[in-house]
Amino acid sequence: MTQRVEGERGDQSIEGLLLAGRTALITGAGSGIGRAAALKLARAGANICLLDLIDERTEDVEKEIRRMGREAEFYDVDVSDPGRMERAIRAAAERFGSLDVIFANAGINGTLAPIEDLTPEAWDQTLGINLRGTFLTVKNAIPHMKGSGGSIIITSSINGNRTFSGFGMAAYSSSKAGQVAFAKMAALELARYRIRVNAICPGGIETNIGESTKSTKQLDKIRIPVEYPEGSQPLEHKSGRPEQVADLVLFLASEQSSHITGTEIYIDGAETLL
Ligand code: NAD
Repeated sequence: MTQRVEGERGDQSIEGLLLAGRTALITGAGSGIGRAAALKLARAGANICLLDLIDERTEDVEKEIRRMGREAEFYDVDVSDPGRMERAIRAAAERFGSLDVIFANAGINGTLAPIEDLTPEAWDQTLGINLRGTFLTVKNAIPHMKGSGGSIIITSSINGNRTFSGFGMAAYSSSKAGQVAFAKMAALELARYRIRVNAICPGGIETNIGESTKSTKQLDKIRIPVEYPEGSQPLEHKSGRPEQVADLVLFLASEQSSHITGTEIYIDGAETLL
C-alpha cells in the first residue's frame, strides 16, 4: 500500500519524494517508455531534460511536466550525432546545475531483413541509434555526474539477450546485446564515482515502436513458424504498459536500488520463460 505523508505541496506519497531536487535526462522522451518515465520521474520530484528528434510529442511532455510544477526542457537531438549530443548534454547540465539520473532509452527497430539482404546502411542506422546513441549519451553525461554520483539506466530488450526468434532482427538484437555488455563495462568503470549503471530488458510493450519498423518482403525466406501456447504472456496475457516499465526506471533511478549496479533486469511478465 502506498504510504502517504504531509509534504510541502500538501498530501504526497512517499514515491513523490524519491527524486526531489534531482535532475534526470531522458533520451527518446517524446513517446512510449521514455515519455512514461519522464512523467513518472517528474511526479517523483525530478526536473527533466527531454532529448528526442524534433517532435510535437516531446513538447507535449515538456508542457505536462511544467504543469506539475517541475522544470522541463526539450533538447532536439539525434542521439547518434556526436556534436549535437555533446552540445545538448552540456547545455542541459548548465541549465540544471547537475545531472543525477540518465535514462538512455531512444531506439528504433529499424530494418527487418535476412542478413544476406540487410544493407550495411540499414545495419549502421540501427546500431548507430541504439548502440552508438547509448555510448554518446553515457560518455557525454559522465563529466557532469562524476562529482556527486548518480544512476544510469539503459533500455535494452529481451531481444538479443533471452530471445532470438525476432526473425530479421539481427541488427536490432546485436545492438540490444551490445547495450547490456556496455552497461556492465560502464558499471565497473564508473563505480569509483558512485555512478550506478543498469540495463532494463522489456518484453512486448505497447508503444509507437512500430513506427520505426521497416519490414522487408524477403523476411518470409527466414521465418521459422513458432507456435506459442495460449497465453504467451503468462502474467497478464497482454503486452506490458510503458507506465509499468517507468516504475522500474524510477526504482533504479532512486536510492531504493543503492546496491544494484551492472545488472540487466527483465520486465516481461515471464514472456521469455516460455
Ligand atoms: P517509441 O517509438 O514509442 O519511442 C522511441 C522514441 O525514441 C521516440 O520518441 C523517437 O522519436 C525516439 N528516437 C528514435 N530515434 C531517435 C534518434 N535518432 N534520436 C533521438 N531520439 C530518437 O518506442 P519505445 O518502445 O518506447 O522505445 C524505447 C526503447 O525501448 C527503445 O530502445 C526500444 O528498443 C526499447 N524496447 C521497446 C520494446 C517494446 O515492445 N516497445 C521492447 C523492448 C525494448
